[in-house]
Amino acid sequence: MNAEPDDLTRVIRAQVEAVLAGPRPAPIVQAGDPVLRLPAAPLTDQIDDETLAELIEVMREAMYAAPGVGVAAPQIGVGLKIAVLEDPGMGDADVADVRERTPFGFRVIINPSYEPVAADGSDVPEKVAFYEGCLSVDGFQAVRARWRAVRLTCQDESGEEISEVLQGWPARILQHETDHLYGELYIDKSELRSLTSSANLERFWLRPDPSLASKILGFPVP
Ligand code: ZN
Repeated sequence: MNAEPDDLTRVIRAQVEAVLAGPRPAPIVQAGDPVLRLPAAPLTDQIDDETLAELIEVMREAMYAAPGVGVAAPQIGVGLKIAVLEDPGMGDADVADVRERTPFGFRVIINPSYEPVAADGSDVPEKVAFYEGCLSVDGFQAVRARWRAVRLTCQDESGEEISEVLQGWPARILQHETDHLYGELYIDKSELRSLTSSANLERFWLRPDPSLASKILGFPVP
């Protein structure tokens, strides 16, 4: 950090400063803000360790306040490849079973990428489709097919290299948050005919899987 920072680094530092000086919990950026569409920069040495720790704390707090199961840095207005994830699981055991939604402890992923792998009991990578939402597309959900199992490659908050296979809902959360860091939103590749307000999701489509919605609303599922 001895050399003069380049323009992108200056922009990122200003974003981080604004967030750290801003209201808490940090408000979640909504769709339409370009920060959600620009690929985030890999975290290198743009911010020091103490600032990184503060930023992670702001992200964790924003995730709990929403509440959500993940927050990516662009969702609080910072264009860095950092996301936090945590899923306490869900109450309905039957639904949780179908979705492979197992509780997932708090973790930080830095500079993540993923690739599909075969899930337990299958020979090839497969996709599964479920209703999914995003804190940055508030009030809606849509069916999105995603890899059932993926290999995550990233660093954690202490810089440790991680390579790990995730399956089921944790794999879905990971794909969703990682996609944010590449300027994607889940709606980019969802079945738009499945798009529903949260109220109508509860009214019509609160089922373990979207097979009935697929028949009635007319969209394909894998
Ligand atoms: Zn999201």
